[in-house]
Amino acid sequence: MSQSDVILPGATLGVMGGGQLGRMFVHAAQAMGYNTAVLDADPTSPAGLVSHHHIRTGYLDEAGLKELAAQCAAVTTEFENVPAQALDQLAQTRPVAPAGSAVAICQDRAKEKAHFVACGVPCAPHALIETPEQLAAVSEDLLPGILKTARLGYDGKGQIRVKTRAELNAAWEELQRVGCVLEKMLPLAYEVSVIVARGRNGQVVHFPLQQNLHRDGILAVTTVPAPSVSAEVSQRAYEAAHQIASSMGYVGVLCVEFFVLQDGSIVANEMAPRPHNSGHHTIDACDVSQFELQVRAMTGLPLVEPQLHSPCHMLNLLGDLWFPAGVTSQQEPNWAAVLALPGTHLHLYGKTEARKARKMGHLTVTASTAEQARAVALQAAAILGIEPF
Ligand code: ATP
Ligand code: MG
Repeated sequence: MSQSDVILPGATLGVMGGGQLGRMFVHAAQAMGYNTAVLDADPTSPAGLVSHHHIRTGYLDEAGLKELAAQCAAVTTEFENVPAQALDQLAQTRPVAPAGSAVAICQDRAKEKAHFVACGVPCAPHALIETPEQLAAVSEDLLPGILKTARLGYDGKGQIRVKTRAELNAAWEELQRVGCVLEKMLPLAYEVSVIVARGRNGQVVHFPLQQNLHRDGILAVTTVPAPSVSAEVSQRAYEAAHQIASSMGYVGVLCVEFFVLQDGSIVANEMAPRPHNSGHHTIDACDVSQFELQVRAMTGLPLVEPQLHSPCHMLNLLGDLWFPAGVTSQQEPNWAAVLALPGTHLHLYGKTEARKARKMGHLTVTASTAEQARAVALQAAAILGIEPF
C-alpha cells in the first residue's frame, strides 16, 4: 500500500481482540462512518457485542484470520498478546497497524527493555532469568526487586516482589520457572504515561502527559494535566516516546509508561502497542480521542496534535465496586448518584459478571479547572466506594 492510499469511511476496519479497548475502537470507527469486524472467540466479548461483524475464533485460527482479511480493508489489534505471527499472516494481504514486529517487541519485557536502551532511554536496572545459572548469578544490587514474567503479564499479574535471594528463588519457582526479568525496586516519586500516534508517513503526535496512580499493580486514577510534573520532565518523556515509536517504524497508537524518580529522572517502565487505559479520558477531555487517532493512523488519514480541552480525572471501575462490604451477591453501583454530579462521563464495557480486579468500566470527570475536576472525582469516588486519592 502506498502512502497516498487512504482507506476512507465506508470501508470495514478489523480489530484483533474483543475487550474494552476494542469496544472503544469500534465506537470511534463507527462514529467516523466505518464498518467494523472483531476477531475474538468469546461470544459476549465487549467489542464483539457492538461490532458489525464478529468472527468467533481464536487468534491463530486459519479460517478466522482469512475471514477477517476478506472482510477488512485494514486491521489493528487491541491486545498486545495477540500472537505476532497472526498479525504477520494478516499483513500478507492487508495493511496491519501496528506491525507484528513492533508488537513482538512489546510482548517481551526483555526485548522491550533492550529497545529502550537502544533508543537511549533509561530503564530500571534488571537481569534476565531463564535458567537456574542466571538465577544464581543475579547481582545483590537488584534486591529488593520485582520478579516479572517476561511475557503475558498485565495488571500486576505475573509479578512477585522479593527482598532476599531466598524470596527470589521461591518466586521463580512460584512463576513455574518461566522466562522472567528481575527489576530493581526503584524509589518512585510518581508514575506517568505518554500516548503517541505515528502515521504511515512518519508523523508523530502526542497527548498531554498523564499522571497515573496504581493500586495493587492496577491503574486506579489518571489525572490530566499531571499535577506533579514539570514542563522539563514532560518534554523529556515526549522526546523519549517519539524516539521509541519512530525507531520501531511504528504505525498506530502507542503508550509508554514512565516512572519519575525522587531525583526527577525518568525511567521507561513498559509500553503497550495500542490505546491504553491511561488514555481513556481522551474520549471526553480531548478534541480527538486515542481511539480516533488509531483509526486515523491505520487508514492513512491525517493525524492532528490532540488538545486537552478540559482538566480531568479518570477513575477505573473495578469489579470490587459491585461487592461493597457486607454484600455477597453482585450489586450495581449507584450510577444515578454519580451522574447527578457535574461533568461525569460513565463508560461501562458490557461485562455482565463483576469479579474482583476486573475492569468493568471507567468514569471520567471533566471540569473547567483541575481543582473542580478533583473535587467532583473525590465525591464520585466516595459514592462508589473507591478509596480517596
Ligand atoms: P500493566 O497493566 O500496566 O500492563 P503490568 O502488570 O505489566 O501492568 P508493570 O507496569 O510492570 O505491570 O508494574 C505494575 C506497577 O508496579 C507499576 O505501575 C508500578 O506501580 C509498580 N512497579 C513495577 N516495577 C517497579 C519497579 N521496578 N520499581 C518500583 N515499582 C514498580
Ligand atoms: Mg504497567
